[in-house]
Amino acid sequence: MKLSHRAQEVSLSVTLALDAKAKALALSGRDVVNMSVGEPDFDTPRVAREAATTTIRGGSVRYTPAAGTPAMRQAVARYLETTRGGVWSSEEVTICHSTKHALSGAIHALVDPKDEVLLLLPAWVSYVEIVKLAGGVPVSVPGRADCGPDFAAIERAITPRTKAVLLNSPSNPTGYVWTRDEVARLGRLCVERGLWLISDEIYRRLVYEGDPNPSPASLARDVRERTVVLDGASKSFAMTGWRIGFVAAHKSVAAAVERLHSHLVGAPNTVSQAAYMAALQAPGSEPEEVVAMVAEFDRRRRFLMSELDAMGLVAPNPRGAFYAFPNVERYLDARGSIGLCEDMLESEGLALVPGAAFGVDTHVRLSYATSMEKIAEATRRMRRFLSTRQVPLASPVTRRAR
Ligand code: PLP
Repeated sequence: MKLSHRAQEVSLSVTLALDAKAKALALSGRDVVNMSVGEPDFDTPRVAREAATTTIRGGSVRYTPAAGTPAMRQAVARYLETTRGGVWSSEEVTICHSTKHALSGAIHALVDPKDEVLLLLPAWVSYVEIVKLAGGVPVSVPGRADCGPDFAAIERAITPRTKAVLLNSPSNPTGYVWTRDEVARLGRLCVERGLWLISDEIYRRLVYEGDPNPSPASLARDVRERTVVLDGASKSFAMTGWRIGFVAAHKSVAAAVERLHSHLVGAPNTVSQAAYMAALQAPGSEPEEVVAMVAEFDRRRRFLMSELDAMGLVAPNPRGAFYAFPNVERYLDARGSIGLCEDMLESEGLALVPGAAFGVDTHVRLSYATSMEKIAEATRRMRRFLSTRQVPLASPVTRRAR
């Protein structure tokens, strides 16, 4: 039996695989602290749960149009006006099963075989695979030491085959939040060079200090026309399992995603649309529980960063998302960050994500979407592990996996 080349080449998401491994270890009785999960540990807000229950009880659970219900698309258009500014219409919105699904829809709608898509390192694990699935060529562009954008490197990476740039701010895995000037500069570059700017804004709500996170769609009109906004309920509203999100872009792009999805998935989940719509229609465009969740993430972020600092680890200041990305280069052997994470899971029962999964093999990712107690325990174990780690003399100096 032979699978397609496509299926043979795609690898399981490293973060999901690691999470599964940590959970299996815990099930076998091991005391595991899992800092690899990219999922809020908060309940879905009440308004969303109630809307879902009402929908199920009322029996309104049939197929919806492929782009989502008209009311849902309207609700997202209003939400975009509140959060990104400007005027948005329903035709610019296609509801998807998740942000991941919105991303694959957008990439398949825009990228032809051999087209190049710039991924700004460190870049989230699924970008490479989704671009490859569409037949495109992922081109990794190194960033600055503080994990911000290196514009000289971005300009050098542009070729006549470049079709799009993927922006993810706040970033997974670094928590880096682009400044307004940086976003404007990238937007201008995309307009000048005729590129699509695919803006993954799934962590938009999770910014804790300094400038809020500007969307390129909030900037100049010509930048907005080149921008494809991806967002969803998972991270900002603690609704990961509901699998709901959207693409917002020029109506020709939104319609292309709708056509693709009409064959690939039929329509987004009816119950999840009702739940997401209720969340977006809450006063201030978000359920009341979100403010407390964001404040708690901020508290954990400060604690984790002070612990990493006390260990002598350097990490870019994560102004957003719920990750820290310290440099662990001096503790690596020839197996790089993957080997380090394997050893840490084996000896300390501590699950982190290797930077290699994001194209930067000198770092590891810790998620602080877990309780303060677990963060404190995780940093205790990490300190113990690193203090006994024998570092070979010929340790690699700089590793970049892709
Ligand atoms: N984009 C980034 C950068 C993410 O980190 C994630 C989830 O980890 C997603 C998209 C996927 O979000 P969703 O749950 O809406 O598919």
